Amino acid sequence: MYKLAIDYHTHTRYSHGRGTILDNVEAARAKELKSIAITDHGFRHFLFGITYSDIKKMRDEVTLLNQRFSDIDVLLGVESNLISLDGDIDIPDEYLGFFDVILMGFHLGARPASFRDGKERIIKNVMDKLGLMHIDELRERNTNAVIRALERHPISILTHPGAKIDIDSRKLAKAATLHCTALEINSSHGYMNLEHVKIALEEGASFAITSDAHTPDQVGDFKRGIEIAKAAGVPPCRIINSIEYIDLHKKGKKLR
Ligand SMILES: [Zn+2]
Ligand SMILES: [Zn+2]
Repeated sequence: MYKLAIDYHTHTRYSHGRGTILDNVEAARAKELKSIAITDHGFRHFLFGITYSDIKKMRDEVTLLNQRFSDIDVLLGVESNLISLDGDIDIPDEYLGFFDVILMGFHLGARPASFRDGKERIIKNVMDKLGLMHIDELRERNTNAVIRALERHPISILTHPGAKIDIDSRKLAKAATLHCTALEINSSHGYMNLEHVKIALEEGASFAITSDAHTPDQVGDFKRGIEIAKAAGVPPCRIINSIEYIDLHKKGKKLR
């Protein structure tokens, strides 16, 4: 059984979650997690994205909660959006420093960087998902866009790879390993799926099992992600939020 101590992916009312930051933190404390990241959607997410003025408020709330609770470490993160074929994300460089952890995912609800990006990234992917049109290079284009983003930005975790777009999982896993980006196994919707996890495991990737909680009661619910990781045979030391991984790195065993 995996023992997971950190939930790196949770939403609050700052995007489309139901609880406050405090609600999520209280839920994490009740489950005895050591740490929780608040990761609402990036600026260009349609209707649900955080605003520039939210960042300061969120940072102040997180600072206060860290002062108030000694049993948990609260991180301010963001689930940024991939918004162009060249790997642009919707958090400008000058704002990256406001966050403790940067996640990135592909979401259909994110405003693209340009009309061309919108046409390529959204319309064609939707057509492909619906089975109305298949474009040979679509998978390669999607994969290259995600890899460009990993090269260009300090992304700690790639959320739900393969969930909304067709992607070359082996090529992606190689790039994620190279850039030290963990691949998410999302307990809410089960992506990455078992087949993709097995491929990524062969390529040396690390994983993060998250709740992607949108309500406080879902915080720390890793059940589905654990089932997938277990079925794929992922060792706990390859899961960045497992007790084993945290202890290994804290004690510096890797260096011995
Ligand atoms: Zn997402
Ligand atoms: Zn999310």
